Parts: sequence; structure tokens; C-alpha cells
Amino acid sequence: MPTNARPTRCVVCTMPLPARHGRGRPRQYCGPACKRLGERFRRREKSILDFEAKALKADQRLSGEYLARTATTWLAAATARRRQLKALRAQAVRR
Ligand SMILES: [Zn+2]
Repeated sequence: MPTNARPTRCVVCTMPLPARHGRGRPRQYCGPACKRLGERFRRREKSILDFEAKALKADQRLSGEYLARTATTWLAAATARRRQLKALRAQAVRR
């Protein structure tokens, strides 16, 4: 997300955000519950990127069948996490 964007809706549950008073970072969450969830999502997203980075690194270092197995394992882990993340987001929006 670009840093100069000013979200008008909660990035987790998509409820409109209450108006912000004063200066400071624009808020992204409607409340503490969504903030906690949003931080969880961010950690998960980071771990997905880590898995994909590992798959890429394995790609550069290794060769042959071992490479294929390793990269496939990391990519599968990343895909599984992505699915979990999507399900979590869907739950948050339904709340
Ligand atoms: Zn929210």
C-alpha cells in the first residue's frame, strides 16, 4: 500500500473508518480488534514472502531433482498460507 494513501475503510473488515482528528499517521483499522487481526495478516503475508524467497534461493543454489523438490515444498507452503490468509480475511469481513 502506498504510504501517502489515506484509507477511508478498515483494511480488515472494510467498514468505513471514523473521521480522524489531529495529525499523525492515517488510521487503517476501525478498532483494536481489527488492528490485532491486521497485524496477524501482515505477519502471515511476510511468512508467505519468506517461503517464496526461499524457493527462489533454492532455485539459484541447487540443481536437479533436489532443487525441484525443495522449491516445490516452499511454494506449496506459501500457497497454503495464502489460502489460510484469504479464509481469515473472509471471516473478518463477515463479522
Ligand atoms: Zn475493522
